[in-house]
Amino acid sequence: MLIEIRHVRIEYSRLSKQGKQHFYFRNRKVALLLCDCCNSQFERPVKQMDPRRLTDEHTHVCPMCNTKKFAQSRGVESRKFWNTTVDQDIGLGDL
Ligand SMILES: [Zn+2]
Repeated sequence: MLIEIRHVRIEYSRLSKQGKQHFYFRNRKVALLLCDCCNSQFERPVKQMDPRRLTDEHTHVCPMCNTKKFAQSRGVESRKFWNTTVDQDIGLGDL
């Protein structure tokens, strides 16, 4: 679940050729998300995400959880809801 999109200011420093240290900053857009597997909050840079996934229609899984295991559990939930077996298809008329 998407909670909000934040603007984060990150400061860096670099050493010039004369040995003087210069500080500079970059603004980064970060999405604050709620993991659908363990219900913990995590951040992800917006540039790394597909813009279509920045909605609540998609599920979001944190880096600590196993995404493939979560996807399989979602399939089990939908099979229980529709009362189908693994190899059974749901027709468009049944939806
Ligand atoms: Zn998680």
